[in-house]
Amino acid sequence: MTTPNATEDSSGFADLGLRPELLRALIGLGYEEPTPIQREAIGPLIEGRDLLGQAATGTGKTAAFALPILQQMPGGGGDGRPLALVLVPTRELAVQVSEAIHRYGRDLGARVLPIYGGQPIGRQLRELQRGVDVVVATPGRALDHIGRRTLNLDALKIVVLDEADEMLDMGFADDIEAILQETPEERQTVLFSATMPPRINSIARQHLTDPVRIQIERETAAPGEAPRVRQSAYVVPRAHKPTALGRVLDVEAPEAAIVFCRTREEVDTLTETMNGRGYRAEALHGGMGQEQRDRVMARLRAGTADLLVATDVAARGLDIEQLTHVVNYNVPSAPESYVHRIGRVGRAGREGVAITLAEPREHRMLKTIERVTKSRITVEKVPTVADLRARRLELTRSALEESMLEDDLEHFRVVVDTLADEFDLVEIAMAAVKLAHEASGAAADEEEIPEVPLRPERDGRGRREPGGREERRGRGPSTGMTRVFIGAGRAGGVRPQDLVGAIANESRLSGRDIGAIEIADRFSLVEVPDHAADDVITSLRQTTIKGKKVTVRRERFESR
Ligand code: AMP
Repeated sequence: MTTPNATEDSSGFADLGLRPELLRALIGLGYEEPTPIQREAIGPLIEGRDLLGQAATGTGKTAAFALPILQQMPGGGGDGRPLALVLVPTRELAVQVSEAIHRYGRDLGARVLPIYGGQPIGRQLRELQRGVDVVVATPGRALDHIGRRTLNLDALKIVVLDEADEMLDMGFADDIEAILQETPEERQTVLFSATMPPRINSIARQHLTDPVRIQIERETAAPGEAPRVRQSAYVVPRAHKPTALGRVLDVEAPEAAIVFCRTREEVDTLTETMNGRGYRAEALHGGMGQEQRDRVMARLRAGTADLLVATDVAARGLDIEQLTHVVNYNVPSAPESYVHRIGRVGRAGREGVAITLAEPREHRMLKTIERVTKSRITVEKVPTVADLRARRLELTRSALEESMLEDDLEHFRVVVDTLADEFDLVEIAMAAVKLAHEASGAAADEEEIPEVPLRPERDGRGRREPGGREERRGRGPSTGMTRVFIGAGRAGGVRPQDLVGAIANESRLSGRDIGAIEIADRFSLVEVPDHAADDVITSLRQTTIKGKKVTVRRERFESR
């Protein structure tokens, strides 16, 4: 076996020319090396090139544009006018991207502000006035601030369109166009999209200058290379991942497993959590010295540890013969990495198992991996508490069976005989089983993990089921907003832009005033400002949607 050399801290990032403050932040976050998209995008972006990137969530695309943005921060802090504007389709993503930029820009004192519809505008106004370096916004609200002259784009150096295909699907095309008109001509423009339909290409042709093109699903893994491995995935919300991992491991009962994490921090936290739950887990990451690593490997080989939690870098070159299971604690950032990881099992004719824990948003990367590896990843249900109990009882049963076949039980006879004077034999046996079961360390894990579906696929027309402009499915309306029920939906060919169009034509509202839109099969729900609800309802009742008269009323929302 070969042991990996301790690698220089985040040296891969230093090679990309990032400034020391950013390298420090990345070390702090435990990023050991750039993901493929970061390796390809960061250099050209620092040079000032425009970029057209095809990449889905989970590839590390946020850092791919965030780091070059922060690279441009002036030494003593900005003058308060934003140097970068990132447009994203949903409020959820606005918050997530802002947090990421804030983390990377820690040592630069970067001020990052998410702005999105539904949030009271007053706070946003105050923050904008105080000065902001990076604005992450949904298009509607960005345009709103531009119109009020509260968002000054004069000093803008870089504009990012993140998840551009989703923004178009949500009917933001005109808003994006209008925003770009307001930005300085010499700005740098970056467009990321998971898919590249013609509409995206036409935006790119119009607004990007000689862009670098990056596609992160290059099919470099040779077909037929994939080993004999049973591959499954579980869709789990982030908060439930440790529990889900424990449960899957309990049911799979691996001889030896390696769990891949993204960062050192994740390795350390997960190792601790799993040890706390009674697994014998060992951490392995790039920050550990050679001796420490050797000790960990020795424990795994000797069977005193059954779980190795590692980063890709740390696991490089590891060859562990007993390994039966590879677990991806997250969907890997590139298909190559997936292939490389699971290549560690399924050798010498033995069946290996690859397990991937995916968050609902990561379904695209999962599909890409399937396509590239030309293999199937079966999405399975996380074992329930009941499954788990059944499985644990099964383990206790086989342990007892083994004991009866192999052990010399004679000197326990006296215990059974004395108890048998007073109790029924079956009862005595049950009590013994109970003790054996509890002693086997079957820790109580009673947490129910909510079942979440993968995000819906696009339908035949290449359009994703819209999750609403601001992605608020299944919740109450935003404050200050009323939800209007419209009796026509997907089955009637209704798209978000039809509703926005009808409302904007028939009432005094503009597209920007409209909040979340949700389109179900037979009806739609649209959020409009409380004060305009009556007006919108009256006007829509007098018009047609997709050529038909439809029911329009306030939604009967059950309060939470
Ligand atoms: P994204 O595709 O931008 O949503 O990123 C997916 C996840 O990968 C986020 O949780 C990031 O914090 C993480 N991540 C991004 N780049 C790296 C890296 N180079 N090493 C480890 N984790 C990363």
